[in-house]
Amino acid sequence: MIKMGECAVCKSNAEIERDGRRSSSFYTCPVCGSYELYDLNELEYKAGNQLAPYLLYHSFGKKGIIEYRYNTPLDKETCDKYNKEFNSGKKTHGRPVHMDADIISAWYPKSFSERIDLILIYINSRIPHIGQFVILGMQEVFSMLFIDRKEYIPSAISENNGDWNWREDTDCEDEAYYMLDYLQKNLYIEYRGCVNEDDWIELRLTPEGYARIDMLQKNTARGRNVLVAMKFGDDTKPLREAIRKGITEAGYFAVFIDEVQHNDFITPELLKYIRDSKFVVVDLTHQNNGAYFEEGYAIGLGKPVIQLCQKDAILHFDIAQKNTIMWDTVESIPLMLKNRIVATID
Ligand SMILES: [Zn+2]
Repeated sequence: MIKMGECAVCKSNAEIERDGRRSSSFYTCPVCGSYELYDLNELEYKAGNQLAPYLLYHSFGKKGIIEYRYNTPLDKETCDKYNKEFNSGKKTHGRPVHMDADIISAWYPKSFSERIDLILIYINSRIPHIGQFVILGMQEVFSMLFIDRKEYIPSAISENNGDWNWREDTDCEDEAYYMLDYLQKNLYIEYRGCVNEDDWIELRLTPEGYARIDMLQKNTARGRNVLVAMKFGDDTKPLREAIRKGITEAGYFAVFIDEVQHNDFITPELLKYIRDSKFVVVDLTHQNNGAYFEEGYAIGLGKPVIQLCQKDAILHFDIAQKNTIMWDTVESIPLMLKNRIVATID
């Protein structure tokens, strides 16, 4: 049964549906989109104030179109299973998209200027026409500007058993105005208050704002580049081309480090290519040390990694447990890889 109530993350008026069997509730919030939270809300505890912006920036199901995707702390394997079922016509569990505290914190901006970048890109996504004002409610603005809604109060007994308490809206408002004023003073946006009480502010991007967005979008960091780690050599050329084909067909650009730099060492340049990649593809068939290292570096940065390996090759212990595309012939790679990219990255 669907009831109206308060969104657990941003306090907006949301639709809530309880699922006793999963001990969880499904929310459809105008700000956070569709998501699931367990009764024992470990994610909220661990992710804290990062959860609300994460949901806004990764939201599904707000535009009034039928949407089966939702963010959930459900484990990755079960999400994969439900998505598989969905693709074969069994829609009971929809299309869960796994989230956890590590994923959220890897995404969360690390610096002030990264915040500004994300904010401008978000505003841009909300404005259909250049020069147009968009009206935003208070909770959407709080999430958009990365305003902390809650304060962690450690318990009297230990640091770890505390509670997240809501902060006063007026404190959050002050901080939101601080960010808005910064954006306005730097000529990225213009904003003004709304007359209607349900709305809060209206804002638009300035030409300077658009210029910064253009610059960001040219930068590959959030672009379509994908670094491929594998053994390079004449013997692996067919493998290389098969991987390239799969990545290209999924709409991405494959970067092979030996095509852009001319030595085999792990260099700052290589690390930069990994950082600038949207995700990384690793073929582990030849147990190449560089490939293991590059995969580890990518995981450390929170980048999604897609693993490939020829059937019957022996995998290193740590990595053997991860879900891997096992290929038989090189010819079978492009389609399998493309499908995996579409299912897990897009
Ligand atoms: Zn919400």
